Amino acid sequence: MRLVILGGGESGVGTAILGKKKGYDVFVSDFGKIKGNYKEVLIINEIAWEEEKHTEDLILNADVVMKSPGIPDKSPMIKKLLAKGVSVLSEIEFAAPFTDATIIGITGSNGKTTTTMLTHHLLKSAGLNVGLGGNIGKSFAWQVAENNYDSYVLELSSFQLDGIINFKPHIAIITNISPDHLDRYDYKYENYIDSKFRITMNQTEEDYLIYDADDEAITEWFKTHTTKAKLIPFSLTKTFSEGAYIKNNKMEISINQEEFTMDTAHIALEGKHNMKNAMAATSVAKLMQIRKATIRESLSNFQGVEHRLEKVLKIQNVQYINDSKATNVNATFFALDSMNTPTVWIVGGVDKGNDYNELMSLVREKVKAIICLGVDNKKIIDVFGNVVDMMIEVDNMNDAVRMAQRLSEKGDTVLLSPACASFDLFENYEDRGNQFKQAVKNL
Ligand code: ADP
Repeated sequence: MRLVILGGGESGVGTAILGKKKGYDVFVSDFGKIKGNYKEVLIINEIAWEEEKHTEDLILNADVVMKSPGIPDKSPMIKKLLAKGVSVLSEIEFAAPFTDATIIGITGSNGKTTTTMLTHHLLKSAGLNVGLGGNIGKSFAWQVAENNYDSYVLELSSFQLDGIINFKPHIAIITNISPDHLDRYDYKYENYIDSKFRITMNQTEEDYLIYDADDEAITEWFKTHTTKAKLIPFSLTKTFSEGAYIKNNKMEISINQEEFTMDTAHIALEGKHNMKNAMAATSVAKLMQIRKATIRESLSNFQGVEHRLEKVLKIQNVQYINDSKATNVNATFFALDSMNTPTVWIVGGVDKGNDYNELMSLVREKVKAIICLGVDNKKIIDVFGNVVDMMIEVDNMNDAVRMAQRLSEKGDTVLLSPACASFDLFENYEDRGNQFKQAVKNL
C-alpha cells in the first residue's frame, strides 16, 4: 500500500512514522520547505520525501493520501487525486483505526485549546493514562505510533474534521460556533457549521456530544439535523435535568443520574467563557467517572493557558492582561465581558471580516481608551471613534504598552485582546503575546 503524505509538518511527519510502522510504502511531499528537525526524523526513519515541489508521478500513484490541514481542498494536486478516486484523509482519520483508546474530540470556534488542556488536566490528575494531541503539541498519529495511551484528548479544527470518513470520538465537545475561516468554506457560514458538526456524524447511541446550548448557530443546527449521540448541553442561563449549568454562582452538572456541584469562586479560570469551558471539561470528567474530590482540586488549580486572558503583571496597581490569542470578535467579546475595572484596550491587526458593532455595548460600558495596533485601523476608528474619549494609533508593541501605561490609572486594566490575526506586525499570535509581555516587564 502506498501512503502519500502532503505536508511535512507535525501531522504529516507523525502520519509518516505511523504509516511506516504499519508497513506502508510512505512518501512525504511538501510544496514548501520542511523544517530541519522534521527532515531529520524522516531521514532517520528512512522515509522518502521531497520539498519545494510536488512530483505528480510520485503522488498520483498513491493508494491513500493524508493531507495536512493547512492544504485546501481546492489545491490543484488534491483536485487531481480526487478526480482519480484516491481517498484523501486527515491525520486523525488515518491514525484512529490503529488505536483502541477512548477518544475525546474537542472542536469549536473559540475555547478549543483551553477546554482540551483543562480536560486533559482533569483526566491526568485522576491518574488516567491519557494523551493530549490534535492541534496541540505532538500529533495524534505520532503518539499512536510511539505511545500506548488508554485515552486521548484531541483538539480538532474544522480542517481535520473535513478529512474524516469513519472517525468517531466517544465523547465530542463543540465549544461554540462563530464565523471564522470562511475563505476555506466558499464564504458560506453554513458550510463551516456543517464542518464542525462532522465531529458527531459517526457517533452512536453509546457516545456523547457536549455542546453550548446558548450558542445560536448550534441550536439552529439542531432544528434541522440530528445525531445519535446522547446530548449533554451546557449553559450560563438555562437549566437541565441532564446537562451542565450555572445557577446562583454554582456550577451544577447532572449526568447519568449523578450530580456534581462546585462554587464557581473556587474555579481558578475566570470569565463567563471559561465557565463554559469548565462545564464542558467537567462533563467529560464525569462521563469518565473521575472522583468528585479530584475534579474539584483540578478545577481549582488549573491556571489557564498562555496568551488566553493571561495575567502578566500588576504595575502601579494596573493589571496587564495578555489575550493575544483572541483573533476574532467573539473571543474579544468574552475578554471585555470579563473585565471588571475601567479598561485600556489594545486592539487591531489583520481583520478577517469583523463586525465590531457586536462589541459596542461592552466598549461603552468598560473601555476608557483604545490603542489601535495594526497597519490598517480605519474600521476600528470608524466604529469606536465617537464612543471612547481617547483613541490612538501605534505601529509597534513597545509604543502600545507605553501609551497604555500613560492612559491608565490605579485600579484600571490594560487588555491586549486584538480581535484580529497578527500577521501584519508580528510573526504569529505567540510572538505578539510575547512582545506584549516583554514590553510590560520593561515598563
Ligand atoms: P481555540 O483553540 O479554539 O482558538 P483558545 O482556548 O486558544 O481557543 O482561546 C482562544 C481565544 O478565545 C482566547 O482569547 C480565549 O480567551 C477566548 N475563549 C476561550 N474560551 C472561549 C469560549 N468558550 N468562548 C469564547 N471565547 C473563548
